[in-house]
Amino acid sequence: MMRFSNTLIQWYLQNNRELPWRKTKNPYFIWLSEIMLQQTRVAQGMSYYLKFIEVFPTVFDLAKATESTVLKMWQGLGYYSRARNLHFTANQIASELNGEFPSTYKEIIKLKGIGDYTASAISSICFHKPTAVVDGNVYRVLSRYFGIQTPINSATGIKEFKALAQTLIDTKQPGTYNQAIMDFGALHCKPQNPLCESCVFNDSCIAFQKKTVKTLPVKDKKIKVRKRYFNYLVIISKDKKTILSERKGKGIWQGLFEFPFIEAEKKLSLEELITSTKFIDLIPTESTISLFNNKEIIHKLSHQHLYTQFWIIHTENSSKTTIQWEELETYPVPILIANFLDNFQTKK
Ligand code: SF4
Repeated sequence: MMRFSNTLIQWYLQNNRELPWRKTKNPYFIWLSEIMLQQTRVAQGMSYYLKFIEVFPTVFDLAKATESTVLKMWQGLGYYSRARNLHFTANQIASELNGEFPSTYKEIIKLKGIGDYTASAISSICFHKPTAVVDGNVYRVLSRYFGIQTPINSATGIKEFKALAQTLIDTKQPGTYNQAIMDFGALHCKPQNPLCESCVFNDSCIAFQKKTVKTLPVKDKKIKVRKRYFNYLVIISKDKKTILSERKGKGIWQGLFEFPFIEAEKKLSLEELITSTKFIDLIPTESTISLFNNKEIIHKLSHQHLYTQFWIIHTENSSKTTIQWEELETYPVPILIANFLDNFQTKK
């Protein structure tokens, strides 16, 4: 066990990535980077991280911003609930905790938007507590090195890997150990084509010896992906106004803005669209309509795929169109709509 963590840390000292958040132990910065890097590639998360710490150098600055500004800055990173929780928690730390980040795992995990992984990362990196992180990288490294077949997305698997990780952590330098195992998973023991031949562990790695590297980690069958069919109504009135509204209620894009849309069970034809009740309610009879994208745009979220059509509708002036077309870019929108707007402007 000791050997595992010593070897890993040795490897890390020679191979670690120079990342801006590695230079600090400020929990506010570490928290930002950890939240941003969930489900996001490091290269992409980096530019957001740098932008955030420039605009919001302290937790008080983040707390003071409006939710809309935070969402706008987050645009493109996806999983927007992370941004909303970040903002909520910043407010709580600023107003209830005097700007001081809590220092123990137990207190940190109580904060909104912070789960086991982030709480372990912050308490080990910033406060030297021996709390082992377990993320996708850690599951992969441990399942291969120890040859563990338990599915990583099962309740037993989650417990088993967490307990094992906890026995491995170097209690003298827990933050370094945690960063080491994550970097090792990301750079060396990679999902595809891990570098086994040149691996510091290849004399003791069970998966390598038993030739089971490709089958590990084991995952239970995937959750079924739900298909949804969205028809966005991009309305442009003669006086260059449109309709945009905020998505309310809990859901993927809460707090973001979007064009009115009609959801259907399957791909809609023009005929089906214009005879639907919502369309009739919303669109004045004097209008011309055309389909912007002949091929549906498939926007993939973790558990759903959105098959999307954008319909361009030129209408008479109406009291329902309240947003100036030129002002659209100031609203936080899902990336699906931001991409559409980019394409639309260039085609115009
Ligand atoms: S030998 Fe291969 S599978 Fe085992 S730890 Fe190294 S890179 Fe991962």
